[in-house]
Amino acid sequence: MNVTELALRKQIIATARSMNALGINRGKSGNVSARWKNGFLVTPSGLPYEETKPADIVFIDAQARAKGKRAPSSEWRFHFDIYNGKGEVQAVVHTHSSFATTLACLGMDVPAFHYMVAAAGGNSIRCASYATFGTQTLSDNALAALDGRNACLLANHGMIATAGSLNAALALAVEIEALCEQYWRALQIGKPNLLADDEMAVVVEKFKIYNTQAR
Ligand code: 13P
Ligand code: ZN
Repeated sequence: MNVTELALRKQIIATARSMNALGINRGKSGNVSARWKNGFLVTPSGLPYEETKPADIVFIDAQARAKGKRAPSSEWRFHFDIYNGKGEVQAVVHTHSSFATTLACLGMDVPAFHYMVAAAGGNSIRCASYATFGTQTLSDNALAALDGRNACLLANHGMIATAGSLNAALALAVEIEALCEQYWRALQIGKPNLLADDEMAVVVEKFKIYNTQAR
């Protein structure tokens, strides 16, 4: 394992630990991956992040062959399909954060109640139809919900955030969770005013510039 791969494996573990430290995940739930060579590196299945060492991270190649001493995340299929289907994605974070999961348990999409919904890439955050965890059907449903989007909810399960780096994917997961909490709160006291599609299209375009400014 070279220095770059070791650093990426460490960063995957740090990202997974941060999900829990930030309160957007608990225990062994969720998983994290980063694109690497002709495939990706992903957290192992069912291993507490505090115990996870760089050697526990699993490599999945372009033929979906796993290489490592542990079993890969049970959700390796949606990580695999995201990297194959979305060339710009470099990292994927999957969490069971409370507010995103609450809305996902109701099968709700998050509409354009706030301009930051555009951070997910469009005028809504879609909720993928339910399928059993770890299945190809769940991956297919997630990819459909991620069409033209960077993030989605997973019905009765959690959420997925994708980005050009591990830090950006984690930050997007935090933002999606905050939006889900805000939407949930707004629904408690009224009917949120939704932004029009043409306004959300303007915001999506503005974000493309905004997101390059800090680089
Ligand atoms: P893994 O530990 O296999 O990654 O599973 C956690 C999870 O969130 C399944 O959806
Ligand atoms: Zn999960």
